[in-house]
Amino acid sequence: MDPEEFRRLAHAAVDWIADYRAGIGELPVRRDVEPGWVRAQLPAHLPERPQPFEALLAEIDRVVVPASTHWQHPGFFGYFPANASLHSLLGDMLSGGLGAQGMLWSTSPAATEVEQVLLDAFAGALGLDPAFTFGGGGGGSIQDSASSAALVALLAALHRAVPGWRERGVDGTERVYVTAETHSSLAKAVRVAGLGARALRVVDPAPGSLAMDPAALATALRADVEAGLRPVLVCATVGTTGTGAVDPVREIALAAREHGTWVHVDAAWAGVAALCPELRWLLDGVDLVDSFCTDTHKWLLTAFDASLLWVRDAAALPAALSITPEYLRNAASESGDVVDYRDWQVPLGRRFRAFKLWAVVHGFGLEGLRAHIRTHVELAAAFADRVRAEPGLALAAPPSLALLCVRVVTGAGAEADDAATRTVLERVNAAGAELLTHTTVEGRYAIRVAIGSVATEAEHVAALWERLRAEASAVRDSSDHAAGTGHG
Ligand SMILES: *Cc1c(COP(=O)(O)O)cnc(C)c1O
Repeated sequence: MDPEEFRRLAHAAVDWIADYRAGIGELPVRRDVEPGWVRAQLPAHLPERPQPFEALLAEIDRVVVPASTHWQHPGFFGYFPANASLHSLLGDMLSGGLGAQGMLWSTSPAATEVEQVLLDAFAGALGLDPAFTFGGGGGGSIQDSASSAALVALLAALHRAVPGWRERGVDGTERVYVTAETHSSLAKAVRVAGLGARALRVVDPAPGSLAMDPAALATALRADVEAGLRPVLVCATVGTTGTGAVDPVREIALAAREHGTWVHVDAAWAGVAALCPELRWLLDGVDLVDSFCTDTHKWLLTAFDASLLWVRDAAALPAALSITPEYLRNAASESGDVVDYRDWQVPLGRRFRAFKLWAVVHGFGLEGLRAHIRTHVELAAAFADRVRAEPGLALAAPPSLALLCVRVVTGAGAEADDAATRTVLERVNAAGAELLTHTTVEGRYAIRVAIGSVATEAEHVAALWERLRAEASAVRDSSDHAAGTGHG
């Protein structure tokens, strides 16, 4: 393919994307697909000869679209959003067009320094302590995911807590502190790092809350140290995946400081909201921690993958991760004047991920990004008010930013409520115009309403409300009939 042919075919690809996005609201958010349906549609053998690009586009329409969950759909309220704004796609295309490898500064200085400048400026926009910037002795990097960010933070913490860890590995005394609400990526990081599940200490929540109890953490840390165990890392979550609960970062950091334990803040979904000054309370205490992570590939309009990780000590990740074979030796690295991002992550190679974030910030401006967050937070607050005012529905947890947990109230006990809530979720999803997912809150089934998809506007949230309310009242009526207790 020469560049002229690329120009023609890329226009066709862009047209396909534009048409898909323009019509996405007409598609069901998710269609039921039998396992194996997609595989059965596709040839089992690779083509011997080149095929026309148009044939590939046709296969996307025939096979891929019908078997996709449309995450960019305005009726997508499931999980957390995975916004792929059109701005970010432009950046991603340019990144692929450059095709640069940014593993070392010297393999593409721009890929490294654009990322450094963006992360420093982004830290300022979030109101992070300047200690997290390169100028302040720390620094940021773009990881593929919050899961990877947690893993490398854990490796840096191991290097700090366990002398000789790089040579001898772990010895079974290491401990990592989480809560029952902490994301599963922490448990995975503990397993990948070879600590084994015995290293995980699940700290109790504060009474009547889903957030970590700092007093319980302090007690656990002291008891472990007295028992000859080694606290390695405490993970505080700002915006848990289930309910959006916020751990008290400041108190957690103070408890950990006594033992020199690394504190990682996982703010994968919620952290970007701190771009809005009125939501900056979310980051209270982050000035005391060692590492902080937030995903721009969830709420903040940047196509997966772009998870921002800042560390207070720019030497911490390289100290844990750097291994230099001869073929990577170069004068710039040896001068110590540059950042080699391969030492901040597990893989060697890395894409120019900063490009798509750059395109987003450039295209929306901070005002546009704040408006995006604020709109969803306001829509969620209004939705919560409606739930409170509706006799057959209740909030299952305190609303958090743009996330609500809702349950149906039947009056016939917890089990009946759980069953009715599950049925309502299934019925809303079966209608196809919206997609909801669920969680459990203190063992009870709850519908999660995560507002924040890139195309979601007030009218879509209003439509969701109407459907949810109608389905809830239909399900309650039918359970009343079944129980013979009609309520009029
Ligand atoms: C989504 C989420 C993660 C995992 O995010 P990835 O970037 O997909 O790895 C981790 N922590 C929290 C709190 C999350 O909500």
